[in-house]
Order: sequence, then structure tokens, then C-alpha cells
Amino acid sequence: CGIVGYIGLNDSKEILLKGLEKLEYRGYDSAGIALQNEDGVTVFKEKGRIADLRTIVDDNVEGSIGIGHTRWATHGAPSKVNAHPHRSTTERFTLVHNGVIENYSQLKREYLSSVELTSETDTEIIVQLIETFVEQGLSTEEAFQKALKELKGSYAIALLDKELEGTIFVAKNKSPLLVGLGDDFNVVASDAMAMLQVTDQFVELMDKEMVLVTKEDVIIKNLDGETMTRAPYTAELDA
Ligand code: GLU
Repeated sequence: CGIVGYIGLNDSKEILLKGLEKLEYRGYDSAGIALQNEDGVTVFKEKGRIADLRTIVDDNVEGSIGIGHTRWATHGAPSKVNAHPHRSTTERFTLVHNGVIENYSQLKREYLSSVELTSETDTEIIVQLIETFVEQGLSTEEAFQKALKELKGSYAIALLDKELEGTIFVAKNKSPLLVGLGDDFNVVASDAMAMLQVTDQFVELMDKEMVLVTKEDVIIKNLDGETMTRAPYTAELDA
């Protein structure tokens, strides 16, 4: 399973699909991408191989912001509905996740009793939680931070907000996730290998940080909201 993301000036589609192909070695049962542009966020997802996903991706849809996912099902059977990206009820938020949310049924009971879930995944709880917190008056960043504080278990997460074109929200805990740096773009990946196609400069993320990735900046904060600084490293390309 794996995650990729791109935010920059060009269409992200091919970078995401190539990145997911580089992560195929990690194993998966379904795959999907979300593309964001000024009209909103479009999701393509499918059970099976990246090759199957490619057949349903509409070439006419472009997005200079995008996230992608390969799923290794833990909660809910491998299926198109359970494949990621997952969306919140209003479709404002779109999210991919690797890992397992151990307290998802408790969070569902506590916060989401009036929300109709569309999948059987633990992942959908995260995106619905963020939307619920935003509806209660929090900003997206505050809602993301509050949701992360609630989650128990392992996760690598990338989140898009349709109403905030220009940021990918990212976090990890006990699952790998890196940010890659470019000129006028930045990327996200479970493994540097997926994004060596566009950069060899990477920033390591620590558990329970919250990261705002724009095309110019990578802002890393701890869950108390304090900004952290971290130098990038050069990823070595294996022959
Ligand atoms: N637990 C999530 C699911 O079953 C994510 C699995 C993964 O790591 O791909 O959908």
C-alpha cells in the first residue's frame, strides 16, 4: 500500500500514476487518485491494478494538485466503494490513508452518530470527523489538528479541501510518509522511490506532526501548533 501527492503548476495525473506504479511492490488490492483544480476535486478509483485504474481515469480532467493511494484492505473488503480516496458527506474533503485506526468505532459513536457513512473503512471516519469539526466552526487546519489528536493507531494521511485550493494537509504516525521538494512544486510519498521521477530532495516527517504542503512551502507543526524546522536530505538512487 502507499500514498503519493503533488502540488505545483503542471497536471499531476501522470506523476501520481507513475508514482503509484513505483509503489506496487508494497502490495495492494485497489487504487485511486483525486485531482483538484479550480472547479473542485474529481476522484477516480478502482479495485485491482494501477493498469485498471488507468482505464477509468478521464484524460480530460486535469489537476495541478492531486493525491493517490494504493490500498491493502484492513477494514472492509477490497471493492471500488472501499477504495481510497474517501470523501466527506458534502464532498468538501477528500482523503487517502494507509494504516489502521484502532479507535474508529469509538470515534464513530462519539462524533458521527448522525453521519451516513458510505464505505466500511476505518478511513472514512477520519474524513467525516474533519468535516464534522469544520461544521462546528473550526478552520480546516484546526479540524485536521483536532482529528489527529483523536486518532489512535497507525496512519499516513493526505487530505484535500475543495474550498482551499493550494494546500495538501499531511500527517503520519507509525506509517511511512515523506515530503519531496521541487522548484514551484512539492510532492508527498510513502517511499522516495515513487517521486525520484521529479526530485531527489526529501524532508522526513516525524510521528504526530501536521504538515501543510503548498507549491512553495512545507510547513511542519507539532500537534500543539508549534512550527518545526527540518533540513532536507538527498535520496540516493539505487542502481
Ligand atoms: N485501513 C484502511 C482500509 O482498510 C487503509 C488500508 C491501507 O493501509 O491501505 O481502507
